[in-house]
Amino acid sequence: MAAVLIDGKVVAEQVQRETAQRAEILKSKGITPGLAAVLVGDDPASQVYVNAKARTCKKLGLYSEVIRQPATISQDELLDIVRSLNDNDMIHGILVQSPLPKHIDELSVTLAIRPDKDVDGFHPHNVGLLLMNRPRMISCTPYGVIKLLEYSKIDPAGKEVVIVGRSNIVGKPLAALLMQKAKGANATVTVAHSRTHNLEAVTRRAEILIAAIGSPEMIKGDMVQEGAVVIDVGVNRVDDPGNEKGYRLVGDVAFAEVAPKASFITPVPGGVGPMTIAMLMSNTVLAAELLSDKK
Ligand code: NAP
Repeated sequence: MAAVLIDGKVVAEQVQRETAQRAEILKSKGITPGLAAVLVGDDPASQVYVNAKARTCKKLGLYSEVIRQPATISQDELLDIVRSLNDNDMIHGILVQSPLPKHIDELSVTLAIRPDKDVDGFHPHNVGLLLMNRPRMISCTPYGVIKLLEYSKIDPAGKEVVIVGRSNIVGKPLAALLMQKAKGANATVTVAHSRTHNLEAVTRRAEILIAAIGSPEMIKGDMVQEGAVVIDVGVNRVDDPGNEKGYRLVGDVAFAEVAPKASFITPVPGGVGPMTIAMLMSNTVLAAELLSDKK
């Protein structure tokens, strides 16, 4: 069986077109959705992500601000910035780019963001709403996975889904989304992790297998059942002297071994990755829509 490739770039473009249309409707009412990104320090990957987010805002007609601060910023100073963004009417979505320097408590920063501006969906208020089947701001990468399934017409209802990885930003919210009593969900979800016994036996049960591990090409062909849908969230740099950058990106799934067995598969790069920014934009517009409905 040759797997159908799920092209995240195509799906992300479609989500972005829809988001731009929603933004236009708001603009006709005098509201321009705005996103503020706070970047602390000079981590090169974080700079790339934040610049990409600002570029995408511009492309979709959203207002954006990037607030750059040195790694020496104190926790109180950072919290003050977040509070001023909470009160800023031009800003509907706030994100504080991870990782933060070690002296900053990430949870305190997350708690300081107004839940209705928490476009990353990390605030306990939004995590709790998701668990209560009332999702509002949904964490972007898990939301992107749901959209990829939806656009590929893969209905998880009743299916055996195995997620490898239980992080707060991917595995856990994705499990909550997929087990919801809701359209596009209703799956039977197993969450595996580093303490799972006999991982191969667990992953082989999956009709939909989602890898969010951070371990290059860990999911091998013999860990996947014939015909499974395979979603690879992992993004890992591996040395590649033949590449001009000296490295290349691979997922958590050994693509060449797994693709011939799968029915659908996401590539890395170009699968889940492009969806994360697309869903961030969608959440920013949602935040502005919810605020406009309240007025
Ligand atoms: P994380 O916080 O490090 O969590 C990794 C999870 O994998 C943990 O639950 C860990 O188990 C589990 N794990 C590690 N080794 C394992 C093993 N040998 N067997 C089974 N489970 C194992 O990572 P994350 O933030 O969720 O990210 C996961 C991957 O997704 C990374 O490659 C990251 O770069 C990528 N990612 C991509 C996007 C995107 O936009 N495409 C966004 C976010 C993350 P324990 O809990 O037991 O330690």
